[in-house]
Amino acid sequence: MRQFETPPQAAWVGNPQGGVSTPDPILLPDPAVRFKRTAARLADLANDHPMSDWLLFLCNLSQAQHEAAQAIQPPLPDAGIVAKTAAAGMPPLAADGHRRDAAWREALRRLLERFDGAEGVPEALAAVVADLKGRSEADLEALADAFLGGSLPPEQAGHSLFIAAALQVYFTCLAASLSVADLHLLPERNLCPCCGSTSVSSLVTASGKTPGVRYLNCSLCSTAWNHVRAVCITCGQSGKLAVRGIEGQEEEASIKAETCDDCHTYSKSLYLAKDTEIDPYADDLASLGLDLLVSEAGWARHAPNPFLLG
Ligand SMILES: [Zn+2]
Ligand SMILES: [Zn+2]
Repeated sequence: MRQFETPPQAAWVGNPQGGVSTPDPILLPDPAVRFKRTAARLADLANDHPMSDWLLFLCNLSQAQHEAAQAIQPPLPDAGIVAKTAAAGMPPLAADGHRRDAAWREALRRLLERFDGAEGVPEALAAVVADLKGRSEADLEALADAFLGGSLPPEQAGHSLFIAAALQVYFTCLAASLSVADLHLLPERNLCPCCGSTSVSSLVTASGKTPGVRYLNCSLCSTAWNHVRAVCITCGQSGKLAVRGIEGQEEEASIKAETCDDCHTYSKSLYLAKDTEIDPYADDLASLGLDLLVSEAGWARHAPNPFLLG
């Protein structure tokens, strides 16, 4: 099953042991809808939002990602090698070990084309677009390596944003080509079983065959994978967890922060039961206010979102 698909009614049966259905451990992305959904949600969330201009820019970026995802054709990974790597407990598309095809640069070229001289591009980013357009292939590969290795300096946040957007398109197309039967959750449950990256946010399901289940959503290849609730995704402890919302809105909040006092980090959970339109990528970006509150109170975000500048 792919993300956001509803299982057929006949599949909604308990397992033969008489227990409740077990959740699908891994849900692969669908490049036909992944970026389009995020763009549509960002357009909605931008209404009456204090960061409206920024969200509308990201909406345009997601739309450009959607178009790039339909256009590029990266060579598909060898199924035998994928299965063997996954069986050995390693991510088959390991972001730092995978030999990238030039298709990711084609995705980048399309994104830059869209924003070159376009309206609504923040001034600092317009300069980044011009700079990236003039870079050699070797330079762009080095930037991608640095981004994936976490060593792009903060002053290159603009470069990071476009490189990340292009790599998301590329890795999402690759992940979509895999067979879920060949994949396994990693021993490090906070990392993506396809590419080994960290997640942007968690989504708690409301319906389907296993309501109330948590999925982490990959920041790079858009794969979603199951992770037990009430356990810190960073350190695996459960004794000092607390769920926090913006004061006065805790009850009805569709987005909450889970803080852990064992490792002093937090991650955000999004609840489909509170809002059926929620998107793990768009809603993470639009809830920066919650990140600011929780980080000012002393918890560090579990992993960065490359689209949250600064
Ligand atoms: Zn991934
Ligand atoms: Zn922890």
